[in-house]
Amino acid sequence: MDYNYLAQLLFPDITTTPEDMEQRFPPRQLPEGAKVTRFAPSPTGFLHLGNLYGAFTDERLAHTSGGVFFLRIEDTDAKRAVPGGVELIIKTLASFGLEFDEGAVIDGDKGAYGPYRQSERAEIYHTYAKKLVSEGKAYPCFCTEEELEAIRAKQEAEKLNLGYYGEFAIWRDAPIEKIEEKLKAGEQFVLRFRSEGSIENHFKFNDQIKGDINVTENDIDHVILKSDGIPTYHFAHAVDDHLMRTTHVVRDESWLSTLPFHIQLFKALGFKLPKYCHTAQVMKLDNGNKRKISKRKDPEFAATFYREQGYPAAVTREYLITLLNSNFEEWRLANQTAPIEDFKFTTKKMSVSGSLFDMDKLGDISKNVISRMSADEVYDGVLEWAQQYDTDFAAKLADNPDMAKAVFAIGRGGKKPRKDIARWGEVKAYMSFFYDDYFTVDSVELNFDKADIKAALSGFLATYSPTDDSAVWFDKVKAVADGVGFASDMKAYKANPSAFKGSVADISGFIRLAVTGRQNSPDLYTVMQILGEERVRARINNMINSL
Ligand code: GLU
Repeated sequence: MDYNYLAQLLFPDITTTPEDMEQRFPPRQLPEGAKVTRFAPSPTGFLHLGNLYGAFTDERLAHTSGGVFFLRIEDTDAKRAVPGGVELIIKTLASFGLEFDEGAVIDGDKGAYGPYRQSERAEIYHTYAKKLVSEGKAYPCFCTEEELEAIRAKQEAEKLNLGYYGEFAIWRDAPIEKIEEKLKAGEQFVLRFRSEGSIENHFKFNDQIKGDINVTENDIDHVILKSDGIPTYHFAHAVDDHLMRTTHVVRDESWLSTLPFHIQLFKALGFKLPKYCHTAQVMKLDNGNKRKISKRKDPEFAATFYREQGYPAAVTREYLITLLNSNFEEWRLANQTAPIEDFKFTTKKMSVSGSLFDMDKLGDISKNVISRMSADEVYDGVLEWAQQYDTDFAAKLADNPDMAKAVFAIGRGGKKPRKDIARWGEVKAYMSFFYDDYFTVDSVELNFDKADIKAALSGFLATYSPTDDSAVWFDKVKAVADGVGFASDMKAYKANPSAFKGSVADISGFIRLAVTGRQNSPDLYTVMQILGEERVRARINNMINSL
């Protein structure tokens, strides 16, 4: 068979050669050891935790080695692409602090190795497809859906391996006349790779995360170009990652099954194989059982979840690194305030079998990080979040920044800061009682005589002055307790509770419920100082009148 003739017949319009491509995309000039990684999503409008997990790995590998992290858009499946998909990818990753050095940008490309959208690379793929055909390494297959279906049915019935191989690869050695006849009739074809592999052969392969793995050769003549000329993932992966000079391919472990084919393709194309990092699945505990985190069951699977819920970017970043490298937590304990960039990220500390996602841990990390922020930083974080997700609350925050900052200053700044906020989405509930519009009183069953509660509240109002310092304020609360037969001294109360109607803690509880509407709140004295005399009196009077 004259393969050059066949190549010309199939790709008459392709005049570029692999050499042209090599010149157009020369090896990168980077320092020794620099890693080039890529994030290569389909623009489906949905990014998930697995994507983030991979993208973080890519970003860290590149940026801890003086390399390049780029974005390639795998949009060969037009049905799955959604408008605005690229923008969503870029913005979502940026919200986690992941910035690309190169690649697709919202309205075009940035960098010398593009185009970075696969849909714009047809000529490049066809150049290499033509080369493979001219070397007898690829061939057209005109099988119809029905024929493929019949092959499959036979294989299933005879319990054989499925796929287009051996005796089933009917177009593999078809004579040129037969091919020409089909082409003349205008029939569609796919281009298949001619596999020389055998499933009898096994070899060892070193994956950067999984270590040495045993692989079986591929014997299937997989499709590399679909009938519309669009490449399959496998072919595009080989051509793109070679020409874009990717050194490390980080991708989900579900691609391991097709790795033997990819190794074959790189070899057939004369490309150097990149290093592979196959990432394990993200798992979670569900009623004590480990299972894969899922789109259907788990809202935290969506990458947008974290921003929507109001976890600060620094927190999700910190948590994801915790998930990615098993030695990060230990490092963090020893380096509590060091920037994350100082941590030596490595694929050697990544999980081989599955990383366990733990929402509670994320919450704990978040509480820690937020507790170390200044009141101003908390204010900025909440406001920015609310402007997107709760505009009414945002307006209130913006209307009186001083009050909000005074609230955020409660319990902040000392050696043991309060850890009461885990995410911006919780802040409104935490401080809603400071705003009259949001203020409501919890319905709480108070097991005391109503007359005593009224007397205590009125007694407090009679002596309350906003100019009191906290010691005087508390002395006054104690005096109220004594006045209504409650113990002002907790020790005395505990020694003989039946001698009293209650204690000073109960009196504080009445005042707290009246002023904040709840049984728990940040420091009551400070809360009252922030609310101001007028609102304190009004709320206590309301409670008195409602009893
Ligand atoms: N587009 C592929 C995916 O989203 C990319 C896999 C890869 O990184 O090679 O699964």
